[in-house]
Amino acid sequence: MNVLEPMVELGRGLWTVMKQVLFNPVVTVQYPEQKREVRPRFRGRHVLKRYENGLEKCIGCSLCAAACPADAIFVEASENTDEKRFSPGERYASTYEINMLRCIYCGFCEDACPTEAIVLGDNYELSFTNRRDAIYPKEMLLEAVPSANMTTPQAVDANVFTRSVPEMKDPQD
Ligand code: SF4
Ligand code: SF4
Repeated sequence: MNVLEPMVELGRGLWTVMKQVLFNPVVTVQYPEQKREVRPRFRGRHVLKRYENGLEKCIGCSLCAAACPADAIFVEASENTDEKRFSPGERYASTYEINMLRCIYCGFCEDACPTEAIVLGDNYELSFTNRRDAIYPKEMLLEAVPSANMTTPQAVDANVFTRSVPEMKDPQD
């Protein structure tokens, strides 16, 4: 074997490393200080949405629970009144829970919802140390109010919010 051959191989190896260090972008993300952006179709932790006026979109219909293949959602509905209104229409979800240990993030609940109330967001930071804490209640899932005076329940004028399901945009538009 030529005595120079190991030196050449060593040089080639070092050059490969130097190429990575000098010319390739760093891919390490300093999590949790930095967070990598998720893909547009990423399905993370659920959020219960509100309308711009602060009313909750969820009407307690339980279609999401019926569609869930993992039986992860529990909904209990109660009646709205105009003095104590949580959502448009007759009913709202007085209890809404998702068991995150059961959830498989399939998005069927989102597809089944007639008011687009339940949405799988981009939050992937789920951690719990016991099974009870894995059940996320409505208070944890509900989106923050747009401003402090828009929290639910609201006292509203009579016969204004009579429709449970809003007029949807024509999909052919
Ligand atoms: S994402 Fe799928 S498994 Fe999770 S709660 Fe919704 S329907 Fe159930
Ligand atoms: S999240 Fe949607 S489907 Fe589920 S109970 Fe509320 S309105 Fe019905």
